[in-house]
Amino acid sequence: MNLELLAKKFENIYSVKPQAISSAPGRVNIIGEFTDYNDGFVLPCALEFRTVVLFKARADNIVNVHSLDYPNESESFSVDNKIVQGESQWGNYIRAIAFVLQRAGYTLQGLDILIDSNVPQGAGLSSSAALEVAICGAFNNVCKLGLSPQQIAVLGQEAENDFMNCQCGIMDQLISAKGDKGKALLIDCESLETESIAIPDDLSLVIINSNYPRKLVDSEYNQRRQDCEEAARILGVETLRGANMEMLLAIKSELSENQFKRAHHVISENSRVIQATEALQRSDINSLRQLMAESHHSLKHNFEVTVPATDGLVEICQNALGDKGAVRMTGGGFGGAIVCLCRSEDVLKVKSAVDESYEKQFNLQASVYVCKSGGGLKVLAL
Ligand code: ADP
Ligand code: MG
Repeated sequence: MNLELLAKKFENIYSVKPQAISSAPGRVNIIGEFTDYNDGFVLPCALEFRTVVLFKARADNIVNVHSLDYPNESESFSVDNKIVQGESQWGNYIRAIAFVLQRAGYTLQGLDILIDSNVPQGAGLSSSAALEVAICGAFNNVCKLGLSPQQIAVLGQEAENDFMNCQCGIMDQLISAKGDKGKALLIDCESLETESIAIPDDLSLVIINSNYPRKLVDSEYNQRRQDCEEAARILGVETLRGANMEMLLAIKSELSENQFKRAHHVISENSRVIQATEALQRSDINSLRQLMAESHHSLKHNFEVTVPATDGLVEICQNALGDKGAVRMTGGGFGGAIVCLCRSEDVLKVKSAVDESYEKQFNLQASVYVCKSGGGLKVLAL
């Protein structure tokens, strides 16, 4: 919705004008899957899809929230008391941010909030991180907390880990807070250092959601995380970031088959991220294609997080693009989305191939998003 209309809506709901706007993007991960919580490397890119938060400070300590995506529900809680889970599923993301800020010792005050977003939800584009970062940006502004984008990202991750019970890594929140228009971000998840990497102008990002119903995702996700942590312990390193392939092969017999396979994925994926960063800098589609194909293969056979629908989508798109595009699954797996990097003139080929074959083979309809890279968190006075 355009800003003027949105500001009018805000005024209709709260009978005051909003004072400022905080907005943060969704993201797609080009390469580096399941490496973030192993302190490794990732190469995500912020999208032009954004979650927008209009807000106005209140004189009391009540936080009121409306979201245009949930018109029949609103959220309201006080920051005077210890913050606990509420009834509203989406409202809990706002409580989660207030909870981690309070826990970190910051003094909060009340605000009126209106949320609008064009980040597809549950499509693997991280609408949850966009929401967390945008909300934290609003509190940062109103309560004059002086938080850096990196601090906001870490708080967003804590909100998701400790209040929403999702054991995600730092990638989604950090790219949402620090994304740079026209660039991907190479993140070292150990030091949290970032480097912006230009995406060549003629490259398009095509994201295709398989719309495969995701089941048992949390328990499988947490199991993978445990396997990685156990493998690191047996390898004698703090996290798998500290291991290399030689070390892994030397103690293969001490690891369970799954621990070996999970660690193999993480160690090999870290080196693919570095190689893919260099390939992107050279606009070398051929190397990107190989690296993304290897990443997908490793996610399918070693990390075991793909499903026939996402494997099938990758195959359909790779066949349509031949050597002109790079394709792999992206995000949390067990369904979700795939990402294609290709020249703009080849986007239509991908779309027609998906239209032609995907539903026929899998009895599901895919959603296709042709995206550009967008900027990170922005807070502006109105
Ligand atoms: P993803 O992050 O992949 O989009 P998640 O399940 O992690 O999927 O996060 C989606 C949840 O985030 C939604 O169910 C909702 O609770 C919350 N959310 C995202 N966008 C909005 C929004 N615009 N308004 C309110 N809640 C939102
Ligand atoms: Mg999420």
